[in-house]
Amino acid sequence: MHIKSKLPQTGTTIFTIMSALAAEHNAINLSQGFPDFESSSELINLVTDAMKKGYNQYAPMPGVLRLREVISEKIASLYGVNYHPESEITITAGGTQAIFTILSAFVKPGDEVIVFKPAYDCYEPAIQLNGGKAISVQLRAPGFQVDWNEVRSLVNERTKMVIINTPNNPSGTVFSKDDMTQLASILEDTNILLLSDEVYEHLIFDGAQHQSAARFPALAERAFIVSSFGKTFHNTGWKMGYCAAPAELMKFFRQVHQFNVFCVNHPVQIALAAYLKNPDTYLTLPDFYQQKRDFFVKRIETSRFKILPCQGTYFQLLDYSAITDEKDTDFAIRLTKEYKLASIPVSVFNENQLDQKLLRFCFAKKEETLEKAGEILSKI
Ligand code: GLN
Repeated sequence: MHIKSKLPQTGTTIFTIMSALAAEHNAINLSQGFPDFESSSELINLVTDAMKKGYNQYAPMPGVLRLREVISEKIASLYGVNYHPESEITITAGGTQAIFTILSAFVKPGDEVIVFKPAYDCYEPAIQLNGGKAISVQLRAPGFQVDWNEVRSLVNERTKMVIINTPNNPSGTVFSKDDMTQLASILEDTNILLLSDEVYEHLIFDGAQHQSAARFPALAERAFIVSSFGKTFHNTGWKMGYCAAPAELMKFFRQVHQFNVFCVNHPVQIALAAYLKNPDTYLTLPDFYQQKRDFFVKRIETSRFKILPCQGTYFQLLDYSAITDEKDTDFAIRLTKEYKLASIPVSVFNENQLDQKLLRFCFAKKEETLEKAGEILSKI
């Protein structure tokens, strides 16, 4: 048989590769982003209760209404806009399923989708699978600032969508109000959709305010806002998230959602509906993760790694150009094998694998883990 891949250029995702290498070499794993501490026991008990109460069959296709109501209240209180729980919010199996569903619902052969590089690795395969073409805007360290004139020059009649991700994985940068306003002025009076990946919305530091696309009417009218419970409640393995969009767009999303997943985990939705009612569960996150960022950074201050600014997410970029000329993919492998510390090489997210000698370290870890990682990095 001769079977050809629909994704001939796509290998195994870097997160699987680096986590496997970390396990094989018994290395501290700061590569794939996930906490090494437990999710709240209150939330775990709520899930157990929901299972015992019999919420073990299919949930409603768009999600448990009570959960969608609480999400709607959350968005209204944080960003000052109303999304109707029945027609404008859908519960998804994590951010990735929402992103795949959005791209599948709209991208047709010949369509272009603008992405900012470095870009999270699930966007482009989903664009390609639907026959679309990713049009890259390469951003550069240390600031990863967007030249909005460049973006404006890329927009044409084939542009179907723009994907933004703030706070940004892997750069740790966040879009300012000015960035969002400039994007709004580019998209105004067009039929271009916006996929706003905001899965790190609550992980934002130094008093900054998350500029959700929901806050900007000219963006919100065309935007799918993607959020993740895994990032917010320290349970990435539950694969739970949601998507919010105006009703006329959400109906197209659900056309696809009903057939690629139908619905998502029922007892977890029941539990989240109760847990999310208390805003402290997410309003305490900036402080919680800022402390972890500062703890980690303090431990590598005197190392030869250059610390890049981290305004949000649970990822810290380190520049190793003072240490070696090695390519980041090679250095990440050597760090894992020889120094027993796994990270993510940033070039895998870049246009043409642009190598800026940057590694990404996840600091969603216990202090003892960060302490040990800091000791290793300080000796290199
Ligand atoms: N979002 C996580 C990260 O950036 C990885 C998720 C995954 O493994 N696909 O590390």
